[in-house]
Amino acid sequence: MKTNLYSLQFADIKRNTINNQPEINLYSLSMLNKLKLHPALYWELTQDGIKCRLCPHECLIKKEKIGICKTRVNVENKLFTKAFGNICSISIDPIEKKPLFHFSPSSETFSIAIGGCTFRCLNCQNYSISQKDPESVEQYYLSPEQIVTKAIKNNCNSISYTYSEPVAFFEFMLETANIARSKGINNIMVSNGYINHKPLAELSQYLDAANIDLKTFDNTIYKKISGGSLQPVLDTLIMLHEKGVWLEITYLIIPEWSDNLNSIREMCNWLFANNFSDVPLHFSRFFPTYKLDDLPPTPVEILVKAMEIAKQEGIKYVYFGNVREQNGENTYCYNCKELLIKRTGFNVLENHISNGKCNYCNSIVPGMW
Ligand code: SF4
Repeated sequence: MKTNLYSLQFADIKRNTINNQPEINLYSLSMLNKLKLHPALYWELTQDGIKCRLCPHECLIKKEKIGICKTRVNVENKLFTKAFGNICSISIDPIEKKPLFHFSPSSETFSIAIGGCTFRCLNCQNYSISQKDPESVEQYYLSPEQIVTKAIKNNCNSISYTYSEPVAFFEFMLETANIARSKGINNIMVSNGYINHKPLAELSQYLDAANIDLKTFDNTIYKKISGGSLQPVLDTLIMLHEKGVWLEITYLIIPEWSDNLNSIREMCNWLFANNFSDVPLHFSRFFPTYKLDDLPPTPVEILVKAMEIAKQEGIKYVYFGNVREQNGENTYCYNCKELLIKRTGFNVLENHISNGKCNYCNSIVPGMW
């Protein structure tokens, strides 16, 4: 689930659902007059222009042109990113909002975004920043060091690269994550998972957790709804899992687009067959937005059926997003079935996990607690 930040992006930093006063105020930071370009990674010069190798789009970018993500520009046959330090959204969120349910529950995460995205999702909740060139959204400059310092001063044990698409600000995420790791701060990527192997391998050294959107299990629909494709996202899931990054998956069920229960079963089969049975799967409820504002909200019964299917196919931890009923936000022990974490929205009301184990039967509960 991506957070709707329309009301946040130009406002003072907010500590969502938390009453404490935040430490910084964006209006106290000097606004950028002019964007600085930063050298981009993962590209090569060809006879026809620059081939960007960061994400599977592999854009061919001619002089003075930009890539699909709107952040990478060819200047005199060198590739630069316009997305480095020019932060457009910043807030302190409960970790449950990412959503991450098996990673440091009840903690707060310092969340940042820069404009731009590699996808064109018809249902984007954050299109006012994700579908914009970083220059065309209001922004404030913070260096990687400043981001880490602010996170520490605000008692956040993690930084989340989120809201827009962090792959589109890869270099800033990488540099910030490197510094954060050296200071003992966790790094969390909330992403569409559309990234090539080499940059993901480099980034994974510093990532502690990720929530990856799986839009649908039908490649034709994937292309239509997002402009991306399925296989690279599956490859990302596999690599993150292999690298030991704590992983959770979000699947937004959109009426007429991603609500086919046979396809959902096929996806769950794939997840089980590829050793993702312990990876939390969040089925999120769609509400009309952006270019899909004529569709109805997802019927709750469809989410209930999807959860049943996932459990039948061996997925152990299945959750609802955007649904405050059916106990779909709680964690239950897979072994003894006792309630382990009781949640309402982003709030943790009870936690019966100690040292990563169920308090009732002592079974290990997968996650980073
Ligand atoms: S990162 Fe941007 S420029 Fe590079 S291939 Fe992907 S969409 Fe194109």
